[in-house]
Amino acid sequence: MKFGTKAIHAGVRPDPSTGAIMTPVYQTSTYVQPSPGQHQGYEYSRTHNPTRTALQKNLAALENAKHGLCFASGLAAIDAVLKTLRPGDEVVSTNDLYGGTYRLFTKIFEPYDIRFHFVGMGDPAAVEAAMNERTKMVWVETPTNPTMRIIDIAAMSTLAQKYQALLVVDNTFASPYLQNPIDFGAGIVMHSITKYIGGHSDVVMGALCCNDDDLAEKLAFIQNSCGAVCGPQDAFLVLRGIKTLHLRMQRHCENGKAIAQFLKDHPKVNHLYWPGLESHPNHAVAQRQMRDFGGMIAFDLHENQREKAFQILERTKLFSLAESLGGVESLIGHPASMTHASIPKADRENIGVVDSLIRLSVGIEDEEDLIEDLRQALN
Ligand SMILES: *Cc1c(COP(=O)(O)O)cnc(C)c1O
Repeated sequence: MKFGTKAIHAGVRPDPSTGAIMTPVYQTSTYVQPSPGQHQGYEYSRTHNPTRTALQKNLAALENAKHGLCFASGLAAIDAVLKTLRPGDEVVSTNDLYGGTYRLFTKIFEPYDIRFHFVGMGDPAAVEAAMNERTKMVWVETPTNPTMRIIDIAAMSTLAQKYQALLVVDNTFASPYLQNPIDFGAGIVMHSITKYIGGHSDVVMGALCCNDDDLAEKLAFIQNSCGAVCGPQDAFLVLRGIKTLHLRMQRHCENGKAIAQFLKDHPKVNHLYWPGLESHPNHAVAQRQMRDFGGMIAFDLHENQREKAFQILERTKLFSLAESLGGVESLIGHPASMTHASIPKADRENIGVVDSLIRLSVGIEDEEDLIEDLRQALN
C-alpha cells in the first residue's frame, strides 16, 4: 500500500458495534470482564485503549514498522527510550539537538550516570571517535533545528551496528511522509506528534516505532509502568489529522520551495538554510534519504543584528510569532532568544544560531500570500 492510502486506512476499521466509520473516542478507564481474567484485550486504559491502539497501528504502518507506541508528549517518548539504558551506558548524539531533548539528557539522565557525547554528525570519523564498548545508543535528529543539517542515517546505522548500539532517529522535522529511518537501518523512530503528524497545533503527543519484537515489548512495559500515555480524545484528533498528512506535506514542500527561492535572491538575506537548495552542504544526503525537502527554512541577515530580525518578526501578519512547527498555519521564530536562549552565545553561533537568524515553519496557505507577507516584512 502507498503512503496516502496507509494514512487513511492503516490500523482503523469500522466500529464493530455500530459500523461507525471513524474510530470512536473510547473515553473509558476500564473494561467489564464477564469472569476474572476474561477480556477482549482491554483491561485498563493506561495499558491499552482502542482509540490509542488504532493510532499506534496507523503510525507503525506509516513508518514501515511492526510496532507503534504513543506517549503523552514527544519528550515522554524520548524518556521511555532512555529508560532502556542502565548506569554506565553511553549515548552518542548530534551537537545541535532539540533543546528539550538536550535538557532531558543532561539534567535528568546524566545524574543517573548515563553519559552523553555531543558531536557533529556530518563526519562519521568524529562520531566513531566518541564511541566505545559502553556505547549503547546513537541518537540522530535529521533535519536538525534550526539550520536544517542533514545527517546520513545509513552511515550512522553502519556505525551503530559495528558497536552493537541501538540507532534512534528523531523524525519530527521530516515526518514519515518525507523519510522512513527504519528503511535506512534505524532501530527506533521517534516523533513529536505535536508537530507535522498532528498538524493542527491542537495536540501535544509523542510516538515510537520499531520492528524488533523484544524491544517493542520492553518499550510497552515502560509505557505501562511509567504511565506517560496519551488520552483517547487526543488519539482521535491525531487519527483525524493523519488522514490529510500526505496532502499537507505536499503543500508544505511546495510552499517551502517557493519561499526558499524568494529568499535566495533577496538582497537582505545572507545565509539560507533549506535542504532542497543545491548549495546546501548536505543536499546529496537529503536527496538520498528524503522524498522531498519540507517546509522548514531558516535564514540570517547581512545586517546581523537582533533588532533587524525583531523588526521582521514583529511585522509579519500571516506568519505568527510562536514556538513549535509543523501546523497548517505558518509560524516564524527567533531561535537565539526562543529555542536556543539557554545555549551560550559562542556555542550557538558555532552552529549558525546568530542574532539575526530567523526560522520559518511554512504552512499550507497560498504561496503568493506567504511570499507577499515576507516581502513587506523584509522591506
Ligand atoms: C517538539 C520536539 C520534541 C519534543 O516533543 P514534545 O511533543 O514537545 O514533547 C522533540 N524533538 C523535536 C525535533 C521537536 O521538534
